[in-house]
Amino acid sequence: MAKKYKGPAIGIDLGTTYSCVAVWQGQNNRAEIIHNDQGNRTTPSFVAFTDSQRLIGDAAKNQAASNPANTIFDAKRLIGRKYSDPVIQNDIQLWPFKVVAGKDDKPEIRVLYKGDEKCFCAEEISSMVLTKMREIAEKFLGSTVENAVVTVPAYFNDSQRKATKDAGAIAGLNVIRIINEPTAAALAYGLQKRANCVEERNIFIFDLGGGTFDVSVLKIKNNLFDVKATAGDTHLGGEDFDNRMVNHFVMEFKRKHDKDLSGNPRALRRLRSACERAKRTLSFDTDATIDIDALFEGIDFQSAITRAKFEQLNLDLFEKCMKTVESCLTDSKVNKSSVDDVVLVGGSSRIPKIQQMLQDFFMWKDLCLSINPDEAVAYGAAVQASLLCEDTENSLNLVLRDVTPLSLGMLVRGDVMSVVIPRNTQIPVKMMHNYFTVKDDQSNIFFRVYEGERLKATENNLLGSFNFSIPPAPRGHIPVKVCFSIDVDGILNVSAKEETGGNEKDITITSEKGRLTTLEIERMIQEAENFKKEDMKFMEKVNALNGLDDYLYNMRKVMKDDSVTSMLNSLDKMKINAAMIKGKRLIDDKQEQEAFVFVEFQRELESIFESAMEKINKSYSDED
Ligand code: ADP
Ligand code: MG
Repeated sequence: MAKKYKGPAIGIDLGTTYSCVAVWQGQNNRAEIIHNDQGNRTTPSFVAFTDSQRLIGDAAKNQAASNPANTIFDAKRLIGRKYSDPVIQNDIQLWPFKVVAGKDDKPEIRVLYKGDEKCFCAEEISSMVLTKMREIAEKFLGSTVENAVVTVPAYFNDSQRKATKDAGAIAGLNVIRIINEPTAAALAYGLQKRANCVEERNIFIFDLGGGTFDVSVLKIKNNLFDVKATAGDTHLGGEDFDNRMVNHFVMEFKRKHDKDLSGNPRALRRLRSACERAKRTLSFDTDATIDIDALFEGIDFQSAITRAKFEQLNLDLFEKCMKTVESCLTDSKVNKSSVDDVVLVGGSSRIPKIQQMLQDFFMWKDLCLSINPDEAVAYGAAVQASLLCEDTENSLNLVLRDVTPLSLGMLVRGDVMSVVIPRNTQIPVKMMHNYFTVKDDQSNIFFRVYEGERLKATENNLLGSFNFSIPPAPRGHIPVKVCFSIDVDGILNVSAKEETGGNEKDITITSEKGRLTTLEIERMIQEAENFKKEDMKFMEKVNALNGLDDYLYNMRKVMKDDSVTSMLNSLDKMKINAAMIKGKRLIDDKQEQEAFVFVEFQRELESIFESAMEKINKSYSDED
């Protein structure tokens, strides 16, 4: 039985552009989305610093136009990543605020606050947003809140999950569980209840938010949530639709007033805010107006846009979304007619045209949208939170589990990926593997932990490494038990223990390279498929090479034994020594060789060595 937590527990969807908080209300048998002090049900994930104060949420976003360098957003894109990560290097060019490399290549955000330069890491910015969400909940509940379930994208790696958990801790929250956003959305609709013990249910989650687009295929069976496939675009969402509208009006302004406002950041930002509002209106009305005082060079701007025009401006982007839907289904090997539920998530999936395109694609299947798409994730997080709490009036009795998106393992001799936890294993999980030294008197083992599906370890993604020291002994004599454990939040811990009772080491693996995007995960799985033949060839070579190496090792041991060598005739001794030298050369030269060279040479060695040994045995028996 899982541990139960005391007091109210909330669910928080910590989004890239907007965050949302919800709490389970047992008496109503549903989760309540809590509105903030502005009356909004979602809160911008924005933090701003001024000469006199710190602002979070709507207040921060509203002043962004006049204080761009000190208004921070997109912390979710930074969290748990390294500064040198190409993703970060790309994003930096788009941000109006300053990000520099800090200690250990950790990105640092530099702002001016009350006249002084201040540095913050992404966790700290996210913790400020979480604090705001917590305060919103506390005001509603009239009590303090300590426990929270926080959601993350399905493709977040350990490092990103751990950093998100840290952000919660900085906000004074006890993050009782980190769950995947698509899983939360499925929970919000109680879809696990429809998948009973015998039948499984295929669920398609379409999440189009402010700046990111994520789709996933989930399989639910026995209350287990299995992420079958994920796909998406890390730079596609509501902001792109806003930009299309902005460009449209910039051109209109030019036509009307013969003036180009596109070089004026402040005018652009004011126009963008107006466009976002108009876009929201167009989701329930067929036209919307724009009205901005003194937009540029004192000129007031008034205009209107129809829903049809908005759709026309964005049609190629909408179609791009549908292509991703298709490819995700193909990868999951789930036919669209076998999809039982289509769940809409993310504020941008409120756009009617998108809903219609999805409905057409899934052959007029009903879409799950009774819960507002931008609230579904927080709703599900609140469901999960109540399940983990004491005296919950939530009658659902379920255990939630997610799966590992990629295999996890170690690099072993010959650059082979030795898998400890296979892909798609349900978490939490703990698995062990024994490893042995490969050299005599080896004083340490350098463990490298990888994720991926390739048989060659270095073709996979390096998550971390550590040195483990061991007492000297002949090779293969010291077993080191390595244990991989992934906790309920998907955080990987690797421990090594020398079985003879010596050294022990325990580390939490945080990714060295940083986040793998959904696309990268998919690419890795696809690549493993494509490179299967090549990988088999690689394994054949490694096995042949290791076979030869082992044989040579044993030969060398025998040749060190005087009682044997003294029996050998000098010609055989010369032959064996020459063959051993050639063998070593072949191994040193392994890059150039093919598998059959090692196999053939090993046969040659065996025949030389065995015929010499036979002669010794024969001379023994002759003596008898
Ligand atoms: P996140 O991507 O941070 O998880 P959301 O899922 O809340 O955030 O999505 C935010 C995006 O949804 C914003 O671009 C916002 O403009 C857009 N959005 C919110 N409501 C609507 C609506 N009614 N119609 C169209 N877009 C909307
Ligand atoms: Mg979201």
